Amino acid sequence: MRLPIALLSVAASAVLLVPTGVAAADPVEPPTPAVRDFGNGPERNEEAAGVSEPAQMLRAQAVEPFHYVPDRDRGYPRQTQLPVPAENPADASIKLGLVPYHGIAPKLNDLQKLSDRVSVEVIGRSHQGRDLYLVTVTAPESRAEAREQDRIRERIENDPAASARDRSLPKKYKAPVFINGNIHGNEWEGTDAALRVIEELATSTDSQVAKLLGRTRLYFNVTANPDGRFNGVRANGAGFDLNRDFITASQPEARAMRQLMIDTQPVAMVDLHGYVNGTLIEPTTPPHGANYEYDLFIKNTYANGLGMEAAVKALGHTPAADGVFPPQIPFRDSPEGWDDWPPIFTPQYAPFQGAVASHTVEIPLRVNNADYNNLPVEELRRRSSINTAIAAAAVRATYGFVQDRHDQLIADQIEVFRRGAAGEPARSVPLDIVPGFGPEDVYTTTYPRAYVIPAGTAQRSATAAARLVDHLVANDVRVERARRSFQLNGTTYPAGSYVVDMHQPKRGLANVMLEPGADISPRVDAMYDISGWSHALLWGATVDAVTTGSLRVPAEPVNAAAPTGSIPRTPGPLALKVSDAKEVQALNELLAQGVAVTWASDGTAIVPAAAREAAGTAADRYGVAFTAAGSASGVPLSQVRIAAAASADELFTLREMGFEVTPVSTAVLNAGFDWSATDVLFVSSGLSYAALNPAARTALDGFLATGGVVTRGGTGATFNAAAGLLTATAVAGRGDANGVVRVSSSAGSVGNGSPEHSFVYSPRWFTGLGPEVTVEQSYAADGPLVSGHWRPNANGTGGQDAARNQAAVVSGRDERGAAVVLFGTEPMFRNHPKGLFPQVARALYWSASVTAPAVTTP
Ligand SMILES: [Zn+2]
Repeated sequence: MRLPIALLSVAASAVLLVPTGVAAADPVEPPTPAVRDFGNGPERNEEAAGVSEPAQMLRAQAVEPFHYVPDRDRGYPRQTQLPVPAENPADASIKLGLVPYHGIAPKLNDLQKLSDRVSVEVIGRSHQGRDLYLVTVTAPESRAEAREQDRIRERIENDPAASARDRSLPKKYKAPVFINGNIHGNEWEGTDAALRVIEELATSTDSQVAKLLGRTRLYFNVTANPDGRFNGVRANGAGFDLNRDFITASQPEARAMRQLMIDTQPVAMVDLHGYVNGTLIEPTTPPHGANYEYDLFIKNTYANGLGMEAAVKALGHTPAADGVFPPQIPFRDSPEGWDDWPPIFTPQYAPFQGAVASHTVEIPLRVNNADYNNLPVEELRRRSSINTAIAAAAVRATYGFVQDRHDQLIADQIEVFRRGAAGEPARSVPLDIVPGFGPEDVYTTTYPRAYVIPAGTAQRSATAAARLVDHLVANDVRVERARRSFQLNGTTYPAGSYVVDMHQPKRGLANVMLEPGADISPRVDAMYDISGWSHALLWGATVDAVTTGSLRVPAEPVNAAAPTGSIPRTPGPLALKVSDAKEVQALNELLAQGVAVTWASDGTAIVPAAAREAAGTAADRYGVAFTAAGSASGVPLSQVRIAAAASADELFTLREMGFEVTPVSTAVLNAGFDWSATDVLFVSSGLSYAALNPAARTALDGFLATGGVVTRGGTGATFNAAAGLLTATAVAGRGDANGVVRVSSSAGSVGNGSPEHSFVYSPRWFTGLGPEVTVEQSYAADGPLVSGHWRPNANGTGGQDAARNQAAVVSGRDERGAAVVLFGTEPMFRNHPKGLFPQVARALYWSASVTAPAVTTP
């Protein structure tokens, strides 16, 4: 299920999706509202980080990092003898009577033996090291036939105008369909439905099936989240929700799905989830993503949605007989609350890779969370059996739909790429496109002519620019690098600058990542998930949108960004400005080697001349630039050891930057925690000072006499107050407010080097500041929201206007000497806002490097 990440406000609960026409007195469980289940409590990170110890063990056993290279020179079938994992009775699927992870490979091996229609490839490994299985079901193809399919697919993308004119193309091309199972680990049955449909197709003697497989390739990602399937949890082994990771791609499972979509270019896709009763079938409510070719998308997605609904109804379930309510289609049945605005979900990412029908399907009967633990096994199995049948019906309806509309779907995919390559203006969707499409559904954009990621002094971080370029390329966005300097719209850009020409087939994807986004607070009451994400504003690089001027740039295509690492030729001490996460990684590596680094008050690390060789290696490895430090000086800095009461994404991000992190919580501290190996305590989740027992409190107070503290959000602010750290009152903005905000920063250790934008979710600000408190960053007077959704509460508090000019990040030394930083922003959210990570690192370095006076504690 697509769970909202924060407790929705009263306004949100008014738009719950409830199917109409259901008698109130039904003796069975009422239909599940589509928007609910706030597992994470009032603040999204209250749940302790989900990185389990078995995860670490499995990871250690994982062999090599997995690099899948699609084989472009083989026919079908491509049968792979899959390694069979050891049987593990702890697999959470077993209780439900479903296929455990270790049972999938044997089943696929058998199906490959049984049928020449089934091919299996391993396309990646999960965080915990489990194989990801791609099953292709199609009629056998010779090597030459497979090559021809590859050529047509590439031509559709690379020369859509000619493809559109080629009437024979759809006759020759097998329509690709993508079925994604089990992306949320405890929404199991998509996998079992996929296996069932694969087996049916493999063994069927029906001539219609033979015909289908002659005209389509069906791609099944059997379980997108094997860690979660095994563990019986939503997230993967790193604690990430994979169905939020598409434009960040922090996790190997998401990168595998992204590559699968790029390589196969599906015209239609279904992402199988649970649990919403009655079965929820997209298309969605507004707001709709403005970068889709929505006319092509909605007509196909709605048509297939109706087809899936009919197929589910045909199974004959009823509320009275088995507790299954009729399907609901958010687009048709609800005003808002289930939108396709952020491209972080599988079906909202797939259209940018060519899908013209793309759906979340939520099967009806809950078997996870409390129900998993509390319901009798027979009841769970009854539910899972119905869920599997419903998911399978949705898959069959989809391939039937693709068979029926084969040529049109291919033509529509070609048209998506053609409009992009031609640089046509975005179309306003006609209101008669499908019944029920109204003015509230119309969202359009204006594409710039190009984006420029400048080289030279106009670029705030060459390292960040390179990361952004590599990310765009990994998403199959075309980027060029200028061979010479050029002028565009009155600005001269130096050679080496990157150009994203917006006349390209996947311009929608380029734009959805690079545009600032929009403040959509006025248009909708409530959003399902995040509403702002701009890579241009949050990933630390300077990106210019160029709207006018002719694009004549002598440039070559980029496969990978140019190297950015350097050290100055002149001998002497070196400076490393910590304004990018790669610089943090480089610095942490030098610290781990025992290099005698000092920390300057402007947020720069000084590396002694003697460590020049180590610095050169780090510059190469991380693509960072050292400069001559001159006579700069600072306080000694050593490796920062962190105890973190943090969410899984924050733990992941801190470790990714190279910090040594020990997860802690109220329970861990109450059990007795040795503080002697901790320099800084990070608090954002799962730690309550008030809930500590006397011994734990005494130990923590002892640490606070010499150690540092960095906090984030409401839990952090509460900790600050309870532990008596900084004099500051935290004010909460509306709980579901989120997006990109304008900020202004200090020249101090924490603020200096920060981008002009930050990210918030449940924003906070600090008032009533004591004399010991320094404002490191403030919300801007203008906005402050640039893109996202941020309304005031019903009583008028907590809105953007209340946050203007208020302190968003503060620092100070408390009376015991502890160096403390409080974040009201959300700088490590889901590992996404790369440009904000170094601000957290600077807070940690500053906090650790400021030595507190020795104080005797009771
Ligand atoms: Zn789900």
